[in-house]
Amino acid sequence: MVEIRKKLRDWYMGNRRQLPWRETTDPYRIWVSEIIVQQTRVDQGRDYYLRFLERFPDLESLAAAKEEEVLKIWQGLGYYSRARNMHAAAKQVKEGGGIFPASYSGLIALKGIGRYTAAAVSSMAFGEPRAVVDGNVHRVLSRLLGIEEAAGGYRSSSAILQAAEKLIDLEDPGTHNQAMMELGALVCTPRQPDCPSCPLNEHCVAHREGRTSELPPRVKSPARRNRYFNYLVIRSGQCLWMGPRKKKDIWKGLYEFPLIETPRAISAGSLVRTREWTDLFGNNGLRPSGVSGPVRHILSHQEIHAWFYLVPGENPPVLSGYEKVCTGEMDRYPVPKLISNYLDRLSD
Ligand code: SF4
Repeated sequence: MVEIRKKLRDWYMGNRRQLPWRETTDPYRIWVSEIIVQQTRVDQGRDYYLRFLERFPDLESLAAAKEEEVLKIWQGLGYYSRARNMHAAAKQVKEGGGIFPASYSGLIALKGIGRYTAAAVSSMAFGEPRAVVDGNVHRVLSRLLGIEEAAGGYRSSSAILQAAEKLIDLEDPGTHNQAMMELGALVCTPRQPDCPSCPLNEHCVAHREGRTSELPPRVKSPARRNRYFNYLVIRSGQCLWMGPRKKKDIWKGLYEFPLIETPRAISAGSLVRTREWTDLFGNNGLRPSGVSGPVRHILSHQEIHAWFYLVPGENPPVLSGYEKVCTGEMDRYPVPKLISNYLDRLSD
């Protein structure tokens, strides 16, 4: 173990990427970076991280922000519940006296902070010996030690978690955790690990036994659910009617056009006969004047098939739950990528 730790550390010191969150021990900044890099590639994450901190440089500014502003900065990253949880956790800290928890147990009590994030922040900011296990670390440990355990869960019975805890460097757990993640990201990659240049190759079970493609065992991802979104694009002069999604569902709090979701793809003729259409426009014979789509939008567990129906009429009835968003104001409203792509096409 001692030799593995030392080799890993030496490799990391000579090969790590320069990333802005590696230059700080500020727990707020480390927290922000850890949530962002769970979402996206590091190069894209860097831009989001810098933008997020420019707008919310500290916990107070995040706690004081409107949820819409937080979602707007997050726009495009996906998993918007993570942004909402960060906002809620910042308010929780503010209400509790404004001191960011300085321990794993204090961190894990905050909304949206789980094992991974609490371990990352407490080890990197406070030197608490908590092992981080993300997808990269899981892969390295599964191969290095020959542990046949699929990723996910990480209850205390997890062999991977126990191995990570045994391996942790008690002297400098933050650097050790970052080194494990970096090795998984740069060398022990999912498809073609670069074993000849790996600092741990002499110790690695999968390399020795030629099993790198078998480990870790793959988890079969569940089938995606198909959903059919019929958006109603209603103009009033230079404005479009939009409203925030309210239900506990994808994109909660993000703005979209009035939506009629149907269990399957339907024609314009069927759309105007739905109860939702009648609820919005009454029985006055109004019909869409055009449609674009279907647009496929793939999320981790859902596949959205979207149509955008142009609904004529300069003065539609006031649509409950929606408001007029006018040209020039659009930048203030958080919208899902599906909608921002449509708006881009509309303005071309
Ligand atoms: S030797 Fe290969 S499989 Fe083993 S930890 Fe290194 S890169 Fe991964």
